[in-house]
Amino acid sequence: MRNKAILLVHEGVHQPRELVSSVAAGLAPPKAECDLPPVRSHLPINREPRPDRTFNKFFEIGNEAILNSKVRPPIIVITFFIPVIPFFNSVIPAKAGIHRSKFMTYNLAFIDSRLRGNDNITCQKIFENRKRSHFNPLKPLDKSWRSVKLPVMSKINLMGSTLADLESLMADLGEKKYKGRQLFKWIYGSLQYDFNQMTDLTKELREKLDAKYIFTGLQPEGIAKSQDGTEKILFRLNDNKFIETVLISDGDKRTICVSTQVGCPIKCSFCATGLMGFKRNLTLGEIIGQLLYVRERYGENAYRNIVFMGMGEPLLNYENLVQAIKIISSSIGLSLTARKVTISTVGIVPKIYTLADSGLKVNLAISLHAATDKKRRRILSIPFKYDLKALMEAAACFARKRKKRVTFEYILFKGLNDSREDALALAELIKGIPCKINILAYNPVENVPYKRPSDEEINDFSKLLYPRAPAVTVRKSRGLDIDAACGQLAGKMQKIRRRR
Ligand code: SF4
Repeated sequence: MRNKAILLVHEGVHQPRELVSSVAAGLAPPKAECDLPPVRSHLPINREPRPDRTFNKFFEIGNEAILNSKVRPPIIVITFFIPVIPFFNSVIPAKAGIHRSKFMTYNLAFIDSRLRGNDNITCQKIFENRKRSHFNPLKPLDKSWRSVKLPVMSKINLMGSTLADLESLMADLGEKKYKGRQLFKWIYGSLQYDFNQMTDLTKELREKLDAKYIFTGLQPEGIAKSQDGTEKILFRLNDNKFIETVLISDGDKRTICVSTQVGCPIKCSFCATGLMGFKRNLTLGEIIGQLLYVRERYGENAYRNIVFMGMGEPLLNYENLVQAIKIISSSIGLSLTARKVTISTVGIVPKIYTLADSGLKVNLAISLHAATDKKRRRILSIPFKYDLKALMEAAACFARKRKKRVTFEYILFKGLNDSREDALALAELIKGIPCKINILAYNPVENVPYKRPSDEEINDFSKLLYPRAPAVTVRKSRGLDIDAACGQLAGKMQKIRRRR
Protein backbone atom coordinates (compact mmCIF):
# COMPACT_ATOMS: atom_id res chain seq x y z
CA MET A 1 0.00 0.00 0.00
CA ARG A 2 1.29 3.42 -0.82
CA ASN A 3 2.11 5.87 1.83
CA LYS A 4 -0.61 8.35 2.59
CA ALA A 5 0.84 11.80 2.60
CA ILE A 6 0.30 15.44 1.87
CA LEU A 7 3.08 17.67 0.79
CA LEU A 8 2.86 21.43 1.08
CA VAL A 9 5.39 23.83 -0.18
CA HIS A 10 5.53 27.14 1.57
CA GLU A 11 7.33 29.87 -0.24
CA GLY A 12 8.52 33.13 1.11
CA VAL A 13 8.11 35.47 3.98
CA HIS A 14 4.48 36.33 4.16
CA GLN A 15 1.82 36.50 6.83
CA PRO A 16 2.47 33.23 8.65
CA ARG A 17 -0.78 33.44 10.60
CA GLU A 18 -2.93 33.65 7.50
CA LEU A 19 -0.89 30.94 5.95
CA VAL A 20 -1.36 28.66 8.91
CA SER A 21 -5.14 29.04 8.91
CA SER A 22 -5.25 28.47 5.23
CA VAL A 23 -2.93 25.47 5.35
CA ALA A 24 -4.78 23.99 8.28
CA ALA A 25 -8.11 24.47 6.55
CA GLY A 26 -6.75 22.74 3.45
CA LEU A 27 -5.32 19.88 5.44
CA ALA A 28 -8.23 18.75 7.43
CA PRO A 29 -10.75 17.27 4.98
CA PRO A 30 -8.75 15.26 2.46
CA LYS A 31 -6.11 13.79 4.68
CA ALA A 32 -7.60 10.31 4.54
CA GLU A 33 -7.85 10.36 0.76
CA CYS A 34 -4.41 11.55 -0.16
CA ASP A 35 -2.19 9.09 -1.82
CA LEU A 36 1.19 9.55 -3.42
CA PRO A 37 1.94 11.42 -5.51
CA PRO A 38 -0.68 13.78 -4.05
CA VAL A 39 1.49 16.81 -4.25
CA ARG A 40 -0.17 19.96 -3.20
CA SER A 41 1.30 23.37 -3.35
CA HIS A 42 0.50 26.12 -0.97
CA LEU A 43 1.54 29.28 -2.69
CA PRO A 44 1.76 32.72 -1.15
CA ILE A 45 -1.50 34.40 -0.37
CA ASN A 46 -2.68 36.76 -3.10
CA ARG A 47 -0.41 35.23 -5.67
CA GLU A 48 -1.29 33.00 -8.56
CA PRO A 49 0.43 29.63 -8.66
CA ARG A 50 3.22 29.77 -11.15
CA PRO A 51 4.54 26.88 -13.23
CA ASP A 52 7.98 27.04 -11.80
CA ARG A 53 10.29 24.14 -12.46
CA THR A 54 12.25 24.72 -9.29
CA PHE A 55 9.05 24.45 -7.39
CA ASN A 56 8.30 21.18 -9.10
CA LYS A 57 11.68 19.96 -8.05
CA PHE A 58 10.69 20.59 -4.48
CA PHE A 59 7.60 18.50 -4.98
CA GLU A 60 9.83 15.71 -6.16
CA ILE A 61 12.12 16.14 -3.20
CA GLY A 62 9.16 16.08 -0.85
CA ASN A 63 7.77 12.95 -2.44
CA GLU A 64 11.06 11.20 -2.18
CA ALA A 65 11.39 12.34 1.41
CA ILE A 66 8.04 10.76 2.16
CA LEU A 67 8.94 7.55 0.39
CA ASN A 68 12.31 7.30 2.11
CA SER A 69 10.94 8.16 5.48
CA LYS A 70 10.97 5.35 8.00
CA VAL A 71 8.42 7.00 10.21
CA ARG A 72 6.12 8.01 7.42
CA PRO A 73 4.66 11.22 8.70
CA PRO A 74 1.67 11.86 6.52
CA ILE A 75 2.24 15.60 6.28
CA ILE A 76 5.38 17.32 5.20
CA VAL A 77 5.95 21.01 4.68
CA ILE A 78 8.94 22.30 2.83
CA THR A 79 9.61 25.89 3.60
CA PHE A 80 12.12 28.35 2.30
CA PHE A 81 11.79 30.49 5.35
CA ILE A 82 13.50 28.92 8.33
CA PRO A 83 12.17 31.07 11.22
CA VAL A 84 8.60 29.86 10.67
CA ILE A 85 9.50 26.22 11.29
CA PRO A 86 8.94 26.08 15.06
CA PHE A 87 5.74 28.06 14.51
CA PHE A 88 4.53 25.65 11.83
CA ASN A 89 5.42 22.63 13.89
CA SER A 90 3.31 23.71 16.80
CA VAL A 91 0.47 25.67 15.21
CA ILE A 92 -0.44 23.72 12.07
CA PRO A 93 -0.94 20.39 13.83
CA ALA A 94 -3.01 22.11 16.53
CA LYS A 95 -5.18 23.92 13.97
CA ALA A 96 -5.59 20.89 11.75
CA GLY A 97 -6.37 18.64 14.70
CA ILE A 98 -3.58 16.20 13.94
CA HIS A 99 -0.88 14.86 16.18
CA ARG A 100 2.48 16.60 16.03
CA SER A 101 4.28 13.35 15.38
CA LYS A 102 2.55 13.10 12.02
CA PHE A 103 3.88 16.37 10.87
CA MET A 104 7.31 17.32 9.68
CA THR A 105 8.67 20.59 8.39
CA TYR A 106 11.72 20.43 6.20
CA ASN A 107 13.70 23.47 5.35
CA LEU A 108 16.35 24.01 2.79
CA ALA A 109 19.11 24.54 5.30
CA PHE A 110 18.29 21.20 6.88
CA ILE A 111 18.30 19.37 3.59
CA ASP A 112 21.46 21.22 2.70
CA SER A 113 23.29 20.26 5.86
CA ARG A 114 22.31 16.61 5.42
CA LEU A 115 23.56 16.63 1.86
CA ARG A 116 26.78 18.49 2.42
CA GLY A 117 29.73 16.22 1.99
CA ASN A 118 27.83 13.74 -0.17
CA ASP A 119 26.79 16.06 -2.86
CA ASN A 120 27.69 19.29 -4.58
CA ILE A 121 24.26 20.76 -4.12
CA THR A 122 24.19 23.57 -1.61
CA CYS A 123 21.47 25.71 -0.26
CA GLN A 124 23.05 28.67 -1.97
CA LYS A 125 22.79 26.89 -5.28
CA ILE A 126 19.16 26.13 -4.70
CA PHE A 127 18.47 29.77 -4.03
CA GLU A 128 20.45 30.86 -7.06
CA ASN A 129 18.43 28.49 -9.19
CA ARG A 130 15.24 29.78 -7.69
CA LYS A 131 16.24 33.35 -8.33
CA ARG A 132 17.01 32.70 -11.94
CA SER A 133 13.88 30.72 -12.53
CA HIS A 134 11.89 33.47 -10.88
CA PHE A 135 12.85 35.77 -13.71
CA ASN A 136 12.81 33.08 -16.35
CA PRO A 137 10.48 30.30 -15.33
CA LEU A 138 11.30 28.27 -18.39
CA LYS A 139 15.01 28.14 -17.77
CA PRO A 140 15.96 24.51 -17.22
CA LEU A 141 17.29 23.50 -13.87
CA ASP A 142 20.87 22.68 -13.23
CA LYS A 143 21.40 18.99 -14.07
CA SER A 144 23.10 18.37 -10.74
CA TRP A 145 19.65 18.39 -9.17
CA ARG A 146 19.31 14.85 -10.34
CA SER A 147 21.99 13.67 -7.97
CA VAL A 148 20.21 14.99 -4.90
CA LYS A 149 19.88 12.26 -2.32
CA LEU A 150 17.23 12.93 0.20
CA PRO A 151 17.73 12.69 3.91
CA VAL A 152 15.99 9.74 5.47
CA MET A 153 13.96 10.87 8.42
CA SER A 154 15.08 9.52 11.72
CA LYS A 155 12.93 8.83 14.74
CA ILE A 156 10.59 11.57 15.88
CA ASN A 157 11.66 13.43 18.98
CA LEU A 158 8.74 13.65 21.38
CA MET A 159 10.49 16.00 23.79
CA GLY A 160 8.17 18.88 24.57
CA SER A 161 5.00 16.87 23.89
CA THR A 162 2.10 17.93 26.06
CA LEU A 163 -0.17 15.53 27.91
CA ALA A 164 -2.81 15.98 25.20
CA ASP A 165 -0.19 15.22 22.50
CA LEU A 166 0.83 11.97 24.18
CA GLU A 167 -2.77 10.91 24.79
CA SER A 168 -3.59 11.49 21.16
CA LEU A 169 -0.43 9.64 20.12
CA MET A 170 -1.61 6.62 22.12
CA ALA A 171 -5.05 6.82 20.51
CA ASP A 172 -3.37 6.85 17.08
CA LEU A 173 -1.39 3.76 18.06
CA GLY A 174 -4.64 2.04 18.99
CA GLU A 175 -3.87 2.19 22.71
CA LYS A 176 -5.85 3.46 25.65
CA LYS A 177 -5.60 7.20 26.26
CA TYR A 178 -4.36 6.82 29.84
CA LYS A 179 -1.12 5.34 28.53
CA GLY A 180 -0.24 8.81 27.27
CA ARG A 181 -0.44 9.92 30.88
CA GLN A 182 1.95 7.15 31.91
CA LEU A 183 4.37 8.20 29.21
CA PHE A 184 4.12 11.84 30.31
CA LYS A 185 4.94 10.83 33.89
CA TRP A 186 7.97 8.81 32.83
CA ILE A 187 9.47 11.67 30.85
CA TYR A 188 8.78 14.76 32.92
CA GLY A 189 8.26 13.20 36.34
CA SER A 190 10.95 10.50 36.33
CA LEU A 191 13.25 11.83 33.57
CA GLN A 192 13.22 8.38 32.02
CA TYR A 193 13.66 8.65 28.26
CA ASP A 194 14.31 4.98 27.50
CA PHE A 195 11.07 3.29 26.45
CA ASN A 196 12.45 -0.09 27.49
CA GLN A 197 12.64 1.08 31.09
CA MET A 198 9.00 2.16 31.19
CA THR A 199 7.93 -0.91 33.02
CA ASP A 200 4.22 -0.17 33.29
CA LEU A 201 3.84 -0.15 29.50
CA THR A 202 3.42 -3.45 27.71
CA LYS A 203 6.42 -4.89 25.90
CA GLU A 204 4.59 -4.61 22.61
CA LEU A 205 3.85 -0.92 23.12
CA ARG A 206 7.41 -0.21 24.22
CA GLU A 207 8.69 -1.81 21.03
CA LYS A 208 6.22 0.14 18.93
CA LEU A 209 7.31 3.39 20.54
CA ASP A 210 10.98 2.55 20.33
CA ALA A 211 10.72 1.87 16.61
CA LYS A 212 9.36 5.30 15.76
CA TYR A 213 10.01 7.74 18.57
CA ILE A 214 12.73 9.07 20.77
CA PHE A 215 13.13 11.60 23.58
CA THR A 216 16.23 13.70 23.34
CA GLY A 217 16.83 16.75 25.47
CA LEU A 218 19.27 19.62 25.19
CA GLN A 219 22.99 19.02 25.36
CA PRO A 220 25.26 21.72 26.81
CA GLU A 221 28.00 23.30 24.74
CA GLY A 222 29.71 24.58 27.86
CA ILE A 223 29.18 25.45 31.53
CA ALA A 224 30.69 28.46 33.28
CA LYS A 225 30.87 28.56 37.08
CA SER A 226 31.15 31.75 39.07
CA GLN A 227 32.93 32.10 42.39
CA ASP A 228 29.61 33.04 43.95
CA GLY A 229 28.05 29.71 42.91
CA THR A 230 26.16 31.00 39.88
CA GLU A 231 26.33 28.67 36.89
CA LYS A 232 25.66 29.52 33.31
CA ILE A 233 24.90 26.71 30.88
CA LEU A 234 25.24 27.33 27.18
CA PHE A 235 23.15 25.08 24.93
CA ARG A 236 23.62 24.60 21.21
CA LEU A 237 20.29 24.00 19.50
CA ASN A 238 19.67 21.75 16.48
CA ASP A 239 19.96 24.69 14.11
CA ASN A 240 23.32 25.71 15.62
CA LYS A 241 21.93 28.63 17.56
CA PHE A 242 22.85 29.21 21.19
CA ILE A 243 20.83 29.88 24.29
CA GLU A 244 21.71 30.25 27.94
CA THR A 245 20.27 29.03 31.19
CA VAL A 246 21.50 30.36 34.53
CA LEU A 247 21.36 28.59 37.87
CA ILE A 248 21.61 30.99 40.79
CA SER A 249 22.35 29.76 44.30
CA ASP A 250 21.55 31.86 47.32
CA GLY A 251 22.20 29.63 50.30
CA ASP A 252 19.67 26.82 50.05
CA LYS A 253 17.55 28.79 47.65
CA ARG A 254 18.29 27.82 44.06
CA THR A 255 16.67 29.61 41.17
CA ILE A 256 16.82 28.72 37.51
CA CYS A 257 16.62 31.47 34.92
CA VAL A 258 15.16 30.12 31.68
CA SER A 259 15.31 31.47 28.11
CA THR A 260 12.29 31.60 25.83
CA GLN A 261 13.70 32.99 22.58
CA VAL A 262 16.94 32.95 20.61
CA GLY A 263 17.89 36.62 20.72
CA CYS A 264 15.14 39.11 21.48
CA PRO A 265 12.98 41.40 19.35
CA ILE A 266 12.75 44.06 22.09
CA LYS A 267 16.42 44.99 21.68
CA CYS A 268 16.89 46.87 24.94
CA SER A 269 19.87 49.13 24.55
CA PHE A 270 21.74 47.73 27.57
CA CYS A 271 21.22 44.02 26.94
CA ALA A 272 23.59 41.54 25.29
CA THR A 273 20.64 39.45 24.07
CA GLY A 274 19.07 42.54 22.55
CA LEU A 275 22.32 43.22 20.68
CA MET A 276 22.10 39.76 19.07
CA GLY A 277 18.83 40.67 17.37
CA PHE A 278 15.89 38.27 17.19
CA LYS A 279 16.36 34.81 15.68
CA ARG A 280 13.34 32.77 16.67
CA ASN A 281 11.06 31.58 19.44
CA LEU A 282 12.14 28.51 21.35
CA THR A 283 9.99 25.43 20.93
CA LEU A 284 8.25 23.97 23.94
CA GLY A 285 10.81 21.14 23.94
CA GLU A 286 13.68 23.64 24.03
CA ILE A 287 12.13 25.58 26.93
CA ILE A 288 11.33 22.53 29.01
CA GLY A 289 14.63 20.91 27.94
CA GLN A 290 16.55 23.57 29.93
CA LEU A 291 14.69 22.63 33.12
CA LEU A 292 15.04 18.89 32.54
CA TYR A 293 18.75 19.11 31.85
CA VAL A 294 19.47 20.93 35.13
CA ARG A 295 17.33 18.43 37.04
CA GLU A 296 19.13 15.53 35.45
CA ARG A 297 22.45 17.07 36.40
CA TYR A 298 21.68 18.13 39.98
CA GLY A 299 18.71 16.04 41.02
CA GLU A 300 15.16 16.83 42.00
CA ASN A 301 16.13 19.71 44.29
CA ALA A 302 18.27 21.44 41.67
CA TYR A 303 15.99 24.49 41.88
CA ARG A 304 12.93 25.57 43.80
CA ASN A 305 12.18 28.74 41.87
CA ILE A 306 11.88 29.29 38.16
CA VAL A 307 12.19 32.69 36.54
CA PHE A 308 11.50 33.24 32.86
CA MET A 309 14.03 36.02 32.74
CA GLY A 310 16.68 34.58 30.43
CA MET A 311 17.08 35.36 26.75
CA GLY A 312 14.00 36.75 25.07
CA GLU A 313 10.67 38.27 26.00
CA PRO A 314 8.57 35.37 27.37
CA LEU A 315 5.20 36.97 26.63
CA LEU A 316 6.10 37.05 22.93
CA ASN A 317 6.33 33.24 23.00
CA TYR A 318 3.12 32.96 24.96
CA GLU A 319 1.72 29.61 23.80
CA ASN A 320 4.90 27.67 24.47
CA LEU A 321 5.41 29.52 27.76
CA VAL A 322 1.96 28.53 29.01
CA GLN A 323 2.42 24.89 27.94
CA ALA A 324 5.80 24.83 29.72
CA ILE A 325 4.21 26.14 32.93
CA LYS A 326 1.54 23.43 32.69
CA ILE A 327 4.25 20.75 32.47
CA ILE A 328 6.18 22.37 35.35
CA SER A 329 3.17 22.52 37.65
CA SER A 330 1.62 19.17 36.72
CA SER A 331 1.67 16.68 39.59
CA ILE A 332 2.92 14.05 37.13
CA GLY A 333 5.31 16.51 35.48
CA LEU A 334 7.98 18.56 37.21
CA SER A 335 5.60 18.89 40.11
CA LEU A 336 6.60 22.42 41.14
CA THR A 337 3.83 24.82 42.08
CA ALA A 338 3.21 27.64 39.62
CA ARG A 339 3.51 30.00 42.61
CA LYS A 340 7.26 29.42 42.36
CA VAL A 341 7.30 30.55 38.74
CA THR A 342 7.94 34.18 37.82
CA ILE A 343 7.46 35.61 34.36
CA SER A 344 9.47 38.69 33.63
CA THR A 345 8.31 41.04 30.90
CA VAL A 346 9.19 44.49 29.64
CA GLY A 347 5.47 45.10 29.38
CA ILE A 348 3.60 43.40 26.54
CA VAL A 349 0.37 44.90 27.82
CA PRO A 350 -2.26 42.72 26.03
CA LYS A 351 -0.50 39.55 27.13
CA ILE A 352 -0.39 40.73 30.76
CA TYR A 353 -4.21 40.84 30.66
CA THR A 354 -4.32 37.41 28.99
CA LEU A 355 -2.02 36.02 31.66
CA ALA A 356 -4.12 37.57 34.43
CA ASP A 357 -7.18 35.77 33.02
CA SER A 358 -5.38 32.48 32.35
CA GLY A 359 -5.86 31.04 35.81
CA LEU A 360 -2.13 30.27 36.06
CA LYS A 361 -0.97 31.11 39.56
CA VAL A 362 2.34 32.56 38.42
CA ASN A 363 4.11 35.73 39.57
CA LEU A 364 4.68 38.70 37.34
CA ALA A 365 7.81 40.84 37.25
CA ILE A 366 7.87 43.95 35.07
CA SER A 367 11.17 45.43 33.91
CA LEU A 368 10.55 49.12 34.45
CA HIS A 369 14.01 50.76 34.58
CA ALA A 370 12.58 54.28 34.23
CA ALA A 371 9.65 56.24 35.58
CA THR A 372 8.96 58.37 32.51
CA ASP A 373 8.12 57.26 28.97
CA LYS A 374 10.88 59.39 27.53
CA LYS A 375 13.62 57.80 29.61
CA ARG A 376 12.14 54.35 29.26
CA ARG A 377 12.11 54.57 25.50
CA ARG A 378 15.79 55.42 25.63
CA ILE A 379 16.56 52.35 27.72
CA LEU A 380 14.13 49.86 26.18
CA SER A 381 12.83 49.92 22.67
CA ILE A 382 9.35 48.76 23.55
CA PRO A 383 6.70 49.74 20.96
CA PHE A 384 5.36 53.18 21.73
CA LYS A 385 1.76 52.02 22.16
CA TYR A 386 2.67 50.27 25.42
CA ASP A 387 3.30 53.42 27.41
CA LEU A 388 3.70 53.55 31.18
CA LYS A 389 0.07 54.51 31.78
CA ALA A 390 -1.19 51.42 29.94
CA LEU A 391 1.46 49.28 31.61
CA MET A 392 0.57 50.44 35.13
CA GLU A 393 -3.12 49.75 34.47
CA ALA A 394 -2.27 46.23 33.30
CA ALA A 395 -0.01 45.67 36.33
CA ALA A 396 -2.76 46.83 38.71
CA CYS A 397 -5.26 44.54 36.97
CA PHE A 398 -2.89 41.56 37.29
CA ALA A 399 -2.33 42.27 41.01
CA ARG A 400 -6.08 42.57 41.57
CA LYS A 401 -7.05 39.41 39.70
CA ARG A 402 -4.22 37.29 41.05
CA LYS A 403 -4.43 38.85 44.53
CA LYS A 404 -0.68 39.04 44.41
CA ARG A 405 1.91 41.81 44.42
CA VAL A 406 3.62 42.59 41.15
CA THR A 407 7.40 43.00 41.19
CA PHE A 408 8.93 45.97 39.40
CA GLU A 409 12.52 45.45 38.35
CA TYR A 410 14.58 48.63 38.18
CA ILE A 411 18.15 48.43 36.88
CA LEU A 412 20.21 51.41 37.99
CA PHE A 413 22.40 53.00 35.32
CA LYS A 414 24.88 55.57 36.54
CA GLY A 415 23.83 59.11 35.64
CA LEU A 416 20.80 57.95 33.65
CA ASN A 417 18.03 56.84 36.00
CA ASP A 418 19.59 57.03 39.47
CA SER A 419 18.86 60.62 40.54
CA ARG A 420 16.66 61.85 43.38
CA GLU A 421 14.05 62.95 40.79
CA ASP A 422 14.04 59.47 39.28
CA ALA A 423 13.40 57.88 42.69
CA LEU A 424 10.55 60.28 43.46
CA ALA A 425 8.99 59.81 40.01
CA LEU A 426 9.17 56.04 40.47
CA ALA A 427 7.46 56.24 43.87
CA GLU A 428 4.71 58.36 42.30
CA LEU A 429 4.28 55.99 39.34
CA ILE A 430 3.64 52.86 41.39
CA LYS A 431 1.35 54.56 43.91
CA GLY A 432 -1.72 52.43 44.62
CA ILE A 433 -0.39 49.26 42.96
CA PRO A 434 0.28 46.32 45.29
CA CYS A 435 3.93 45.77 44.46
CA LYS A 436 7.52 45.47 45.50
CA ILE A 437 10.53 46.99 43.82
CA ASN A 438 13.74 45.11 43.08
CA ILE A 439 16.70 47.37 42.49
CA LEU A 440 19.63 45.92 40.58
CA ALA A 441 22.87 47.56 39.62
CA TYR A 442 23.71 47.31 35.94
CA ASN A 443 25.95 44.35 34.96
CA PRO A 444 28.36 45.85 32.40
CA VAL A 445 28.22 44.40 28.88
CA GLU A 446 30.93 44.77 26.22
CA ASN A 447 30.26 47.58 23.70
CA VAL A 448 27.43 49.06 25.76
CA PRO A 449 28.06 52.61 27.02
CA TYR A 450 26.16 52.38 30.34
CA LYS A 451 27.95 52.34 33.68
CA ARG A 452 27.25 50.70 37.00
CA PRO A 453 26.63 53.11 39.90
CA SER A 454 28.65 52.81 43.10
CA ASP A 455 27.28 50.89 46.12
CA GLU A 456 26.79 54.21 47.89
CA GLU A 457 24.70 55.62 45.03
CA ILE A 458 22.60 52.45 44.99
CA ASN A 459 22.00 52.77 48.72
CA ASP A 460 21.03 56.43 48.46
CA PHE A 461 18.51 55.62 45.73
CA SER A 462 16.88 52.82 47.69
CA LYS A 463 16.69 54.93 50.87
CA LEU A 464 14.88 57.66 48.97
CA LEU A 465 12.45 55.11 47.60
CA TYR A 466 11.75 52.94 50.61
CA PRO A 467 9.44 55.04 52.75
CA ARG A 468 7.46 55.94 49.63
CA ALA A 469 7.18 52.41 48.14
CA PRO A 470 5.62 49.41 49.93
CA ALA A 471 8.72 47.16 49.66
CA VAL A 472 12.17 47.71 48.22
CA THR A 473 14.94 45.13 47.85
CA VAL A 474 18.42 45.73 46.55
CA ARG A 475 19.49 42.62 44.66
CA LYS A 476 23.09 41.46 44.64
CA SER A 477 24.71 41.15 41.23
CA ARG A 478 25.53 37.52 40.55
CA GLY A 479 28.05 35.82 38.29
CA LEU A 480 29.93 38.98 37.32
CA ASP A 481 33.01 36.86 36.58
CA ILE A 482 31.17 34.58 34.11
CA ASP A 483 29.30 37.09 31.93
CA ALA A 484 26.05 36.24 33.69
CA ALA A 485 24.13 39.17 32.21
CA CYS A 486 21.54 37.70 29.89
CA GLY A 487 22.84 36.82 26.43
CA GLN A 488 26.50 37.63 26.98
CA LEU A 489 27.80 34.11 26.43
CA ALA A 490 25.45 33.24 23.57
CA GLY A 491 26.31 36.57 21.93
CA LYS A 492 30.01 35.77 22.14
CA MET A 493 29.47 32.30 20.64
CA GLN A 494 27.48 33.83 17.81
CA LYS A 495 30.31 36.26 17.04
CA ILE A 496 32.89 33.46 17.10
CA ARG A 497 30.80 31.42 14.69
CA ARG A 498 30.42 34.39 12.35
CA ARG A 499 34.19 34.91 12.31
CA ARG A 500 34.71 31.24 11.40
S1 SF4 B 1 16.43 42.83 28.58
FE1 SF4 B 1 14.98 41.18 28.17
S2 SF4 B 1 13.46 42.18 26.86
FE2 SF4 B 1 15.25 43.51 26.80
S3 SF4 B 1 16.41 42.82 25.01
FE3 SF4 B 1 17.21 41.72 26.81
S4 SF4 B 1 16.09 39.80 26.83
FE4 SF4 B 1 14.95 41.21 25.52
